[in-house]
Amino acid sequence: MTAAILTATAADLGARIAARDLTSVEVTQAFLDQIARVDADVHAFLHVDAAGALAQARAVDERLDAGEKLGPLAGVPLALKDLFCQEGVPTTAASRILQGWRPPYSATVTQRLLDAGIVILGKTNLDEFAMGSSTENSAYGPTRNPWDLDRIPGGSGGGSAAALASFEAPLAIGTDTGGSIRQPGAVTGTVGVKPTYGGTSRYGVIAMASSLDQPGPCARTVLDAALLHEVIAGHDPMDSTSIDAPVPPVVDAARCGDVTGLRIGVVTELGGEGYAPGVTQRFTEAVELLRARGAEIVEVSCPHFGYALGAYYLIMPSEVSSNLARYDAMRYGLRAGDDGTRSTEEVMKLSRDAGFGDEVKRRIIIGTYALSSGYYDAYYGSAQKVRTLIAQDFEAAFAQVDVLVSPSTPTTAFALGERLADPLAMYASDLCTIPSNMAGNASGSFPCGLAPEDGLPVGFQVMAPPLADDRVYRVGAALERALTERDGGVLTDQLAPRWASGAKEA
Ligand code: GLN
Repeated sequence: MTAAILTATAADLGARIAARDLTSVEVTQAFLDQIARVDADVHAFLHVDAAGALAQARAVDERLDAGEKLGPLAGVPLALKDLFCQEGVPTTAASRILQGWRPPYSATVTQRLLDAGIVILGKTNLDEFAMGSSTENSAYGPTRNPWDLDRIPGGSGGGSAAALASFEAPLAIGTDTGGSIRQPGAVTGTVGVKPTYGGTSRYGVIAMASSLDQPGPCARTVLDAALLHEVIAGHDPMDSTSIDAPVPPVVDAARCGDVTGLRIGVVTELGGEGYAPGVTQRFTEAVELLRARGAEIVEVSCPHFGYALGAYYLIMPSEVSSNLARYDAMRYGLRAGDDGTRSTEEVMKLSRDAGFGDEVKRRIIIGTYALSSGYYDAYYGSAQKVRTLIAQDFEAAFAQVDVLVSPSTPTTAFALGERLADPLAMYASDLCTIPSNMAGNASGSFPCGLAPEDGLPVGFQVMAPPLADDRVYRVGAALERALTERDGGVLTDQLAPRWASGAKEA
């Protein structure tokens, strides 16, 4: 019974809870037990809020028992990236500088989850302030990939992705600034979607690079991701860049999954040389599966995508240097060296030195330099021009096709430690994902099989125009259907014997 709960989809759990076939408390307890059983190995969580989760579950059960009608995910547990404020619950951004901080308010996304009756199990690990592609930049130790514990789970949202793949949660939330939802999704065989910029609220999400950051859903199936997307999306007056428009029909699209007549463009610049052979092979097969289901496949060139990574690593650190100036040790967070003899400025310096890790410091320094008056035009100004060119590439492409596709990442999960000494190799993990952040369009990663050379998951990226997030789900659902028909299940089902079978039988 417990193992069956752990491996069920969120949609199924929600339906059974609504039918009172299961209680939210039973389901929540099963996942809390699973976390207790496996998280010492995986380290997906920084904080497990067992008491809070069970109290939320009890409240949902009472409302349902009283005959109230709640949404499709009411009572279903979720793992929340530790970048989202949750009132009274420790929120660290995986940084020492916020150790022990309990926010006095909840992010809009957090509040919408709670309002929908979704049970928050705890806060998941990430690269410090979401800066990284492996979760190794966490101040609290890395998360491990449930497919191979010696491999990285991607980043920055490695904790959320690993929690899904080890059946510690059926749903998770991430943020994507350059790929932090999609790349962890790709390397763990899970689904992750970056909504259109402005489609989900950034209010109460600890800021990395505000013109790029976007919260989004993570799940093991396309429908589960779409149901979660619908809960968190929509206009928020508390976020000045939030779009005041209806949420795209993502759930209908995930249920439909029909790609007949859909024009799909394969991006010439994202693939080929430098990509792992197994990634290319599985990606190409997936494209053929979509063609077989009636999609029209063409090649599309996006000539400026090759400059996206370089421009991102100027714009993002510039915004980081500004956003992280708020950690001054005066209002909240770590305060170091305040022994009564030092000046305020000295305490600020000592606190920032002790509180930030190396990668965060590197980006603050690069960003401060790129924004300095003598170099602003040469670096930040040029990068903004490249950003416009990338957006124009997308516009031209979407005049010809409905969606663009590419591999989500150039390689499968690499070994822990492998890229730590080489920041450029680490940054290259996001080669395929960054263009969509630069342009602000919708983009998702979907599992498309295991690479033959290492048996590790490969991700398939679908990019759609702004506010056409439903197309991302439509193509994702078509691919999921084709692969389920071929393989008899979704990719993470293959992990169930390893991670969920030891769960006690009830
Ligand atoms: N890996 C990218 C970076 O290090 C993206 C991070 C993110 O999306 N938060 O900046």
